[in-house]
Amino acid sequence: TKIVIVGASHGGHESAIELLDKYRDVDVTIYEAGDFVSFMSCGMELFLEDKVTAQEDVRNFKPEDITSKGGHVFNNHEVTAINADKKEVSVKDVKSGQTEQVAYDKLILSSGVTPTVLPVPGHDLDGIYAMRGYDWASKIKADTTDDSIKNVAVIGAGYIGIEAAEVFTKAGKHVTLMDMINRPLGNYLNENLTDVVTKELTSKGVELALSQSIKSFEGDKSVTGVKTADKTYPADLVICAAGVKPNTAWLSGTVNLTDRGFIDVNPYLQTNLPDVYAMGDAILPLSIPAGKPTPIALATTARREAQYVVDHIFEETPAVPFKGVVGASALSVFDYHFAAAGLNTTTAAKVDVPVATSAYKDTLRPAYVPASAGNTDVYTSLTFDPLTHQILGGAVLSKYDITAQGNVIALAVAHKLTLEDLATADFFFQPGFDRQWSLLNLAAQHALGRAR
Ligand code: FAD
Repeated sequence: TKIVIVGASHGGHESAIELLDKYRDVDVTIYEAGDFVSFMSCGMELFLEDKVTAQEDVRNFKPEDITSKGGHVFNNHEVTAINADKKEVSVKDVKSGQTEQVAYDKLILSSGVTPTVLPVPGHDLDGIYAMRGYDWASKIKADTTDDSIKNVAVIGAGYIGIEAAEVFTKAGKHVTLMDMINRPLGNYLNENLTDVVTKELTSKGVELALSQSIKSFEGDKSVTGVKTADKTYPADLVICAAGVKPNTAWLSGTVNLTDRGFIDVNPYLQTNLPDVYAMGDAILPLSIPAGKPTPIALATTARREAQYVVDHIFEETPAVPFKGVVGASALSVFDYHFAAAGLNTTTAAKVDVPVATSAYKDTLRPAYVPASAGNTDVYTSLTFDPLTHQILGGAVLSKYDITAQGNVIALAVAHKLTLEDLATADFFFQPGFDRQWSLLNLAAQHALGRAR
């Protein structure tokens, strides 16, 4: 069976290794339009902060990892069209410009997204960057040590924007972190946690410019500032982390796309074309708490989708649909670490799901344990259905790394547990680690109105 995969990132990589490990007699080929196989943007911050020094190491896999298992990997090869009748793809060698027709029995699309620059006047000035992939990582890295760059504006206070803000602040630049909405990380965390994040960013010197809509980029050849309705923020460099466009223009007319250009898939991750599957950032995955397709652009999502597709690739109608995801994520914001899963007030409003929330603050360990012995504040937030108490989302945040508890929330959301379930769940207690009741027990008890 000849299986062609488009895109050598998380979805493409996971598909290839699952196929090669699971089945005999599969001929697996990955085509990647870019030169470098396969830069891991998730690891970019570690590279930009010199925690990983070799850029070539920041990758999901080397071609040899696939070829040693019998697969094939072609970089600089862009798939430009699908001819579904003949079951062929057109593959262009980007270096030579030659195009060949390649037959497939099964075709897997994981072509991802490209960051977009806001379409305002000045968007084509020099010094306006995105933060994704190998080439942008090289440019950003060079600019962290460029002394002529004093002011950096980061547009988009989601987690990519926060990573950019932290990198340039640590590199000694003045950073303005800008967003249309009124809270940093507002698409990830409820207000009790973004209040802590806001204080942390400000205390570390990041200037926050929230509730700002960008009118234009200022400058002659290179950018010098970002203009909003309120004022012009100085910027020798702009990092845009405020939007993406699916890499699907080449599919238009053959594969059904949504109005925003995402690949339309059925619950089995099949496209409208026979034997053509899609996954990763280029589709909208089923969100378990939302109960509908929602943008959840994460490597974790792409990998789970790839595993599902490979498991069922030889079934015409799989016995079970893809079960969906909860969008679990974690990040450090200077001295704090958070982990979140599911919906929060912002994302719930976008998908029209009514929610209630509960904020709970405590100390990590019993109150008598002093800070010098590692006791510190821990914050939680739970988002739930006000009628059924089903847990729809939640997050934990602390200076101590309690991010593993975010995975407990992720599991609670995925398995549709209620506040009552979480309130009494049997978790361990040991004063070296936590309190008499575990933090998430207490957070759920608090949400149920117990005096915690
Ligand atoms: P992509 O990673 O978008 O890659 C698509 C690939 O397809 C590209 O290499 C592209 O060149 C290639 N391609 C496109 N069109 C064609 C074509 N026609 N022919 C051939 N090749 C083509 N997720 C997490 O879970 N955890 C994190 O910590 C995390 N951190 C991140 C940090 C940053 C800075 C960024 C930008 C993203 C981060 N993500 C993280 C998200 C994660 O990187 C994406 O969800 C994931 O990369 C999506 O994988 P994908 O396979 O859909 O495609």
